[in-house]
Amino acid sequence: MRRHRLVTGRIEGLRSTHSAQLTAAAAGVTAVPGLSRLWTLLDSTTVALTIGIVGLPNVGKSTLFNALTKNDVLAANYPFATIEPNVGVVGVPDPRLKVLAGIFGSERILPATVSFVDIAGIVKGASEGAGLGNKFLATIRESDAICQVIRVFTDPDVVHVDGRVSPKDDIETINTELILADLQTLEKALPRLQKEARLNKERAAVLAAAEEANVVLGEGRTAFEAGLDPVPLRELWLLTAKPFLYVFNVDADELSNTALLDELRALVAPAEAVFLDAKTEADLVELDDAEALELLQSIGMEESGLSTLARVAFTTLGLQTYLTAGPKESRAWTISKGATAPEAAGVIHTDFQKGFIKAEVISFGDLVACGSVAEARSKGKARIEGKDYVMTDGDVVEFRFNV
Ligand code: GDP
Repeated sequence: MRRHRLVTGRIEGLRSTHSAQLTAAAAGVTAVPGLSRLWTLLDSTTVALTIGIVGLPNVGKSTLFNALTKNDVLAANYPFATIEPNVGVVGVPDPRLKVLAGIFGSERILPATVSFVDIAGIVKGASEGAGLGNKFLATIRESDAICQVIRVFTDPDVVHVDGRVSPKDDIETINTELILADLQTLEKALPRLQKEARLNKERAAVLAAAEEANVVLGEGRTAFEAGLDPVPLRELWLLTAKPFLYVFNVDADELSNTALLDELRALVAPAEAVFLDAKTEADLVELDDAEALELLQSIGMEESGLSTLARVAFTTLGLQTYLTAGPKESRAWTISKGATAPEAAGVIHTDFQKGFIKAEVISFGDLVACGSVAEARSKGKARIEGKDYVMTDGDVVEFRFNV
């Protein structure tokens, strides 16, 4: 999901131009004088990627999701964003931003974000349309990754759909539904792909990938678990080819039970596992920072489960951040690992990618060691990079562009 509101100085008049310049400065973008007349700027939310939350009924999805939406960083930091009711946005904790804000005297900090979409409860038979079956599958298809919420808490007052709390069985139930849905997709797609591959050699790779997926799924494994290359499978929108991560909803007093957590982690490896107590997370978002810290420490945690979840989700999606800073804001921008400098500029605005000239890059560590941009420049730590430069996590960047 990506929303940009375009503000063009020419169309919206002087005031917008002015604010656009401010935003541009804040975003670490310099239009080269004389080359650029028209400022085209976003006020962006750049919530690029969405994680679908799935799980059996009564595992704590709504509780977790309410915590996610109350914790909404979009509402606080991105005033122009429209927030959909079933989407919760969480900031990815990044201590570097506070340090940058100190160096630049920034007024505010904008972390990278991950958004979560609440997907109605999955039940046995969802792949055949049971429960909210089809709608549910369509929403998952649009997600970039799947986050399964698994019940571990033992509260006898909360009924389990299958009558007993068993993380292993629940994971199997959910995966089975997703696998069955994918097998149905392939059943329809394979005859078509076979025909296409006969007529066009270039389609052979997709056919081969689909056939391989069919075998893997037939064995009861997800495409992700089997490590299948998601690229040729992309056009098939297979659910199980998406990255998976797992949230175990654990009783608060079990969060320090390392033997239990290791056992659960092993169930889903190599996928990432996050452990939290959804009820505690719901309480935490109601508290101020000091109280929240006290509550976390009382259950032996260092940061909230939501923060951990955001961070893990970010890595699961293969993302990294680069940083921009100025008096207005210090900000983390989301890019894929391996993104080039123009691609990184494009995250701020597509025009910055098109008109990319060069980027001045200082690594976060160098900037902190030097204490200022001027000092970093004089020590030769500020590099001028061109369009082939591959970004590194934590690069502090100012782009030069021409529109
Ligand atoms: P959903 O059906 O997966 O969305 O589950 P809900 O979030 O509605 O939770 C179902 C019930 O379990 C509610 O009564 C919650 O208060 C309770 N619940 C959710 N998370 C926890 C938890 O971590 N511990 C305990 N004891 N109860 C929980």
